[in-house]
Amino acid sequence: MERKNIWNSYTKKQLAELETLNKNYRRFLDAGKTERECVKESVALAEKAGFQNLQDVIKNGQRLQAGDRVYATYMGKAIALFVIGTKDIEKGMNILGAHIDSPRLDLKQNPLYEDTELAYLDTHYYGGIKKYQWVTIPLALHGVIAKKDGSVVDVCIGEDEKDPVFCITDLLVHLSGEQLEKKAAKVVEGEALNLLIGNMPLADTEKDAVKANILKLLKEKYDVEEEDFLSAELEVVPAGKARECGLDRSMVLAYGHDDRVCAYTSLEAILDVKKVKHTACCILVDKEEIGSVGATGMQSRFFENIVAELLNCMGDYSDLKLRRVLANSRMLSSDVSAAYDPEYGAAFEKKNTAYFARGIVFNKYTGARGKSGSNDANAEYVAQLRAVLDKQDVKYQTAELGKVDFGGGGTIAYILALYGMQVIDCGVAVLSMHAPWEIVSKADVYEAKRCYTAFLAV
Ligand code: MN
Ligand code: MN
Repeated sequence: MERKNIWNSYTKKQLAELETLNKNYRRFLDAGKTERECVKESVALAEKAGFQNLQDVIKNGQRLQAGDRVYATYMGKAIALFVIGTKDIEKGMNILGAHIDSPRLDLKQNPLYEDTELAYLDTHYYGGIKKYQWVTIPLALHGVIAKKDGSVVDVCIGEDEKDPVFCITDLLVHLSGEQLEKKAAKVVEGEALNLLIGNMPLADTEKDAVKANILKLLKEKYDVEEEDFLSAELEVVPAGKARECGLDRSMVLAYGHDDRVCAYTSLEAILDVKKVKHTACCILVDKEEIGSVGATGMQSRFFENIVAELLNCMGDYSDLKLRRVLANSRMLSSDVSAAYDPEYGAAFEKKNTAYFARGIVFNKYTGARGKSGSNDANAEYVAQLRAVLDKQDVKYQTAELGKVDFGGGGTIAYILALYGMQVIDCGVAVLSMHAPWEIVSKADVYEAKRCYTAFLAV
């Protein structure tokens, strides 16, 4: 039952493929630090690979057939891609799913204030974070400001070498006697996560001159007023690029591996598809980190609606057909897994834990306590997948998220299972999950892509 470290199993050609994939993955991470940026980048890659916007297909009254490649985006924050198979789509699709939102700090709607000649942006954290990890590191600001005239301004500050960055301060250790007595959850509290953005007063201004200067700069650069913050989505994320990690360069250190490592490898797998029997599908969704809510989260009907449009474009829509397509589908719901960390070994049960460089991780179930919130895949489906993976020599391991009763986590798997389709959780093992900088093994990234490719070919 024990899985081996896979690094030494590779041929020279495979190692070259592995490095190319990881290089492209790092590029994707740098281009996509928010869900919107990930969708933009995915669309660019899809169009380069011959995918057509489903909206154009609908507009042109085009009839879709086997081999056709289409994508549909939703509110710029979610995307679904399809390659039509040669079999009747009623036999079900092979679906890859992952999420493209990551834990971060969002600006509040009324964020800008000045205190003692320092200007700040107030934030509200998004997803599960250890707040103390977000102080004293360089931070960047990404997102959009939507204006009343209907225009939307893109913002990205802190990624270019010439850009300034931002920071959240922490109390100096010399005066931290009392702070260090606190529980880790309280050492830095949510309301203390305020982004320092300026200290230079506007000349000849009496009140809040530093804030006034910041507003002047925003007006000059983006033509926005303070009230425009009301309709903005600005996300504070770690500044800087994804990097190779380790003297042997065997790992990748980056912001947002959860869950862009599964999203990117799923995307790459469907972009590579030439001809398939079962219709191949890849969905990359938003809002997983806060419960898959909202119009762009997995609980929204947008995916079902897109499949209905797809069937209509194939000249074959009915409610019954749609239900059959979804119920007969198979899905790999991909999200990151906790990698065994020897520094915190007590949190893991060693036989049922994911390890770096042992391949893609399958979780028959996730959830907390008595598997609460879990999807729990069918044994028969797991057996079918084992056969597919072993045939293609895909390296995989199985795991749970830590020890029973230590905590737990959820994914989008149970939501797709509502249609009655076969769904299983799988994904890439991550160290320091949900930290500003997370780590994955390059070999596991490679095996994830190989797994998805094998799955789509069934
Ligand atoms: Mn995740
Ligand atoms: Mn997560």
